[in-house]
Formats: sequence, C-alpha cells, structure tokens
Amino acid sequence: MEARMHAFGLFCPRYTEKDGGAVVAAEATVEELARELSSYLDTNRINQVRRAYYYAEQAHEGQMRKSGDRYITHPLAVAGILADLRLDHQSLMAAMLHDVIEDTGIPKDALAEQFGDDVAELVDGVSKLTQIEFRSRAEAQAENFQKMTLAMAKDIRVILVKLADRLHNMRTLGPMPYEKRLRIATETLDIYAPIANRLGMHSICTELEDLGFSSLYPMRAKYISKAVEKLRGSHREIIEDIRGKLQEKLEERGLPGRILGREKHLNSIYNKMKFKQKSFHEIMDVYAFRIITDTEDNCYRILGAVHSLYKPLPGRFKDYIAMPKANGYQSIHTTLFGMHVNIEIQIRTEEMEHIANNGIAAHWMYKNEASGVTTINQSRVDRWVKGLMEMRERADDSMEFIEHVKVDLFPDEIYVFTPKGRIMELPSGATPVDFAYAIHTDIGNASVACRINRNLASLSQPLQSGQTVEIITAPGARPNPAWLSFVVTGKARSSIRHVLKTRKRAESMELGRTLLKRSLKGFGAKLSDISDAQKQAVVNHNQVNSFDDMISDIGLGNRMAYLVARQLVSGNEVLDAPANLENAPDSKQGAVTIRGTEGLLVRFANCCKPIPGDPVVGVMDSGNGMVIHSDTCSRLPEDDEGRARLTHLKWAKDITDEFSVELRVELERQRGVIAEVANAVAMADGNIERISVEDQNARFGIVSLVVHVNGRKHLARVMRRVRNIRAVTHIGRVRH
Ligand code: MN
Repeated sequence: MEARMHAFGLFCPRYTEKDGGAVVAAEATVEELARELSSYLDTNRINQVRRAYYYAEQAHEGQMRKSGDRYITHPLAVAGILADLRLDHQSLMAAMLHDVIEDTGIPKDALAEQFGDDVAELVDGVSKLTQIEFRSRAEAQAENFQKMTLAMAKDIRVILVKLADRLHNMRTLGPMPYEKRLRIATETLDIYAPIANRLGMHSICTELEDLGFSSLYPMRAKYISKAVEKLRGSHREIIEDIRGKLQEKLEERGLPGRILGREKHLNSIYNKMKFKQKSFHEIMDVYAFRIITDTEDNCYRILGAVHSLYKPLPGRFKDYIAMPKANGYQSIHTTLFGMHVNIEIQIRTEEMEHIANNGIAAHWMYKNEASGVTTINQSRVDRWVKGLMEMRERADDSMEFIEHVKVDLFPDEIYVFTPKGRIMELPSGATPVDFAYAIHTDIGNASVACRINRNLASLSQPLQSGQTVEIITAPGARPNPAWLSFVVTGKARSSIRHVLKTRKRAESMELGRTLLKRSLKGFGAKLSDISDAQKQAVVNHNQVNSFDDMISDIGLGNRMAYLVARQLVSGNEVLDAPANLENAPDSKQGAVTIRGTEGLLVRFANCCKPIPGDPVVGVMDSGNGMVIHSDTCSRLPEDDEGRARLTHLKWAKDITDEFSVELRVELERQRGVIAEVANAVAMADGNIERISVEDQNARFGIVSLVVHVNGRKHLARVMRRVRNIRAVTHIGRVRH
C-alpha cells in the first residue's frame, strides 16, 4: 500500500516472545533513532537531539501511558516519525519535548535556556494547539478549525510535530476508553487528516484516515478489509497481466519506469460507498497503477505509450504536471479501458512521487548532490511556498487555490471564539468591533465594551487567534465615529458609516429646521405659512434636489438660515438680489434653545469650553454643523458681517448633563496640597477628569484641573471650595 512505502514502522513498539510465551514490549531506544539520524544529520546535531531526549525522559519520569509503557516512549516515537520525514534537528528536539510544558509544568523559559528560543517556541506552539483542541472539543466547524490551527502556528514545523504526535496517538489508541477513542478519531478525521492533505503530506494523511476510520467504525473497517483481501486474490491474475503489458510497452519504446499496483484505502472506499452511492464492486472493479519515471518529458512519452496500448476514457484525463493541485501535487492521471476493465493510471517522476507523499516535509531537508551534505534549507521551503503562490495564475480554480494555500501558509487571518464556542474568521488586525459586526450588525451598533478571555478589554484592541471574545451591548447605544479609525473589516466600516450618515441626516434636518424657523420668525413668518410653490421656487433657484436637502444643508452649516428664510418670504424678485447681511434682523429672531445633547452636529468649542449659564453663540462650521462658543471667546469673528453669521443661543432650563471646564490653581507648595485640592473638588460634587502640575519652583506651583460640572452655579461652588484651601493663592477658569 502506498501509505506504507515509507519506513514509518521503525519506531512502533515491537513485541517479542520471551520465556514462558509472555509478551514483552521492546522499547525503541534513542540510540536506534540516533543511528537513523546519522544518515542525514551531523554528530553535533544528533547530540542535541539526544540531550532533548534525556531531558524529556527525566521530566516525564514516573509517568506512564495507558498502554503501560513509560511515557517517554511516546515523544521518542513522535521524533521517529519526523526522522522518517527527515526533518531538522530542532523539529526532532521539539518532538522529544512536546509534552513537557503541558504535562510536567516546566516553563517555556527553562526550555529556551536549555535548548534555545527556536525549540522553546516550537514546543510552546504545539502545547497551544493541544490546549485549543482540549478547550473546543465540541467545535463542529472543522473547516475553520483547520484554518485556525494553521494560523496559530507561526512556524509550519509546529504543525508537522503536531501531526506526528497525532499519528502516534492514533497508532496507539487501543487502550484508551471508548469515549476518548471516538473523540480523538473524529477529530483526526475532521481536522488533522485534512491538514496533512493541505500540506501535501499524502502518506500521513492516508494513514490518519485509515486509523481514524477503523477506530470510528471497527466493524465496517473489518468488513471492507476482508472484502478487499478476497478481491485481491481473484484479481491477482488480471493485475499481473496488465502490469506485464504496460512493462512490455515501456520497454518497447525504451522508456524507463517502475510500475506499482495501487490499492484503495479503507477510508476512501467507505467514503465513496457512502457519499457517491457506489457499490463496493463498482469501486473495486478498477485496476489502478502508478508509473514512476525519471523526467517530466518521459511522463508525457509514457502517457503516449499507454494510450496506444488501451483506449483512454473521455473526460478522465488530468494533467496535474502542467497545472499542479493547490497543495503542490503533480502527476498525470488517465483512465483506460482494456481487458474489459477500467484501468486508472498515474504517471509522475520520482521527485513528484516524493513530494506527493511528504508534501511540505519533502522540502525541509535538502541534500546537496555535489557535496553530499544535507542541510536544512529554509530558502528552499520558502521557494516552494512562493512557487505555490505563482501557481495561482495557472491553477484551474484560483478560488480554491486562495482558500487552501494563501490562507493556510500565510496566516493573514485570525480565528477567534464566540462565548458559545463558534469560530469566527477575521482578517488579522481585526478588533472586537469588527468581531461584533461580523456576528450581527445590531450587535456591532449596540457595542459598548468587551471581554477578551473573560477580562475586560478595549474595543480597539487587535484580536489574536484562539481568543474568546464576548461583546457587551447596551440598549440604545450608538456606534462611535472614532471606531472608524481602527476597524479593518469592510462590514464594520460600512455599517458604522451607514448609521452615522443616517443619524447625521436626521440631526441636520432637525437643527436646520430649528434655525430656519427662527430666521422666519425674524421676518414675522412661519414655516407652515410658506406655500409649496414658494418652497419649490427657492429649491429651483438654489439648485438643490429637495426642500429637505436644503434644510439639511442649513443644519450642516453649508447654507445660511437667514438667506433661505429671506428667499422664502420675499417672493421671486428677491431671489436674484444680492444677499444683504447687514440688515439681518438678528435681534428680532430670538435665541435657539440648546441642551448640549443634540448629537453629532452640535459640539462645544474646545477653546472656551462653555458650560450652562455662560452666554453662548453658535458658529456654523460648513459641513459639520454648529460649534458652541462662549460669547466672549477670542476665536469669534470681530467684524459685523462675521457677527451676523452667529446664531444666538440660550441654554435649556433643566440641563443635568455634565460639562468639562478647565481651572488654573496657583498655590504654595506644601505636602499633600494636591490631594487637598482634589478632595475639595470632590466635596463640591465635581468630577476630576484630569489634574496635572504645570509649573513649579521651590515655593509656588500651578495646577491645571479639568473638572466636570453641570453649570455655572456648580462651578462657583467648586471654585469656592478650592479657594478656601489655605495654600491656594489664586484660582481661575482657563479659556484658550
Ligand atoms: Mn503528545
């Protein structure tokens, strides 16, 4: 069987008869492994692997496997599997140590000190995967889980160690309790076999599949393998017959190549029966061969030769040499009809065969033909990966390519859990707000806070694979415009924009209408008295789409309420007259009432920080609505025309909101005086937003305070309290 063509068997425990017929397990030893390693690693590196072994042996001292074997036999066997794949010494060391952090409590730092950062990182990576596996066993989204597993491993060797770990656990699943066996087998079929497949590691993939299948369905596996056994006998003659004919043909044309008979794997037979509704005999009445040759050219020559021998079936020819599969697999597939049966043939070179079996692992160790030295060749691996990227252009299904290669090997996506264990896929850099919108727009819109792994966290903190994220919502909460500066998903961005835009529109209409009504009042008119015809005339004159747009423009500060009001009341003849602001009957218009909670379009100026009770005016800021200034603010226009553009405002009577105000306190320095100031503010029910010492010398200091108060009276109370402190020499409100 093709899956067994590599020497995986070496490090399985062998059972030997000892005296009295008792069966005793003879453990593989680290020296046997060292002998195998000497074929491709130097002594120094082999010694490092040995050292990792002895370290792990000591750490696991006294621990036993369910089988009764010493625990160390497991990591040793895992290293053995990786040695068969000819992986580098660091991977082997990580294999030796892979359960040390998890099972013996030795910290990562200790491993780094002993074996270097790379090995410690690898062990840590494998441990993290093991934890995830444990935590989310109920997880049904296998596809995403596969991707997450890959994304979590920054170093692809973590996956290789994990696969070898899983393979050995599957080989030794027998003594486990039934429930655990089922879980591990299911997970192997759902997660690990497909990952091996994605990485092109066909040998490990098929072995994991067959072991998983036999554990999950022991009776079906037994039945199918018996049936295969039986068929093998009755088919032997015809197989030999075909093989002979193929061999003859190759020799006749002088083409080099060895011909292997291929057998179907239990799991794939079962899947075909189950999912393709085929009978056992339909599946098995296919005779499958693989021809392995030296060069790509000879693959095509051999194709020609076999097509001349038997007729090819239409639609069954696939050239994966010219168009490799997403995982790098290359081969020619064709199906022939001959000797009254279908004959499936795969044609490939030795190198393609090696890659087909070992995938990414085939690229790890690279034997330099000239010098005979074997080296770890990271750049060769990188080239392979890059080669896969370039194949995208040639791949017949580029979506499939992107799905399987880019996402897997270049983890630019992260996978996080909902509190219920569902996996969400997000681009890397995504924040809890992106996560919230990915779940549902309504959740995104109502987000106020979040927990990451149960701890409160900022909504802007970038998420990492494996985290559990919980969004806290509040009814009536609204998206914050500041979110736009950190969200990375299109969905979050467009949803936030949409809400803000709708909200801005509603608010600009409201503010615009208020301002227009006030201006109309100055002309002794009411909005309800204006005829539709007159409104339409003004709309046409100003070249806007609708009267609503014009009102919204007023609210946004793009259009002056006074001018629109004048056009509305004065009829057509005024429309073309130049605007005359000097005659704006401002004083007669009355003031607009504000309460400070109008929304996006009414903001308080940062320079003078007005609070309720201060005389205030509004300045229209084109496109952004109104900014409220104190009417003594130095930033306000001085000239008449500018003053005419201001909107007179008055505060609503029942404001309970708090407003921030800046205070400057001059004081004599003495111990505890800052605390005394803070205390005085608190005693007057003021909230301190910020307190800082601006300037000081040996005797005097200046303290800057930003305090929240609900109005001028409240502010006066706060200031009186502070002024009463003996050390305070002066207190004043700061306006920039
Ligand atoms: Mn393990």
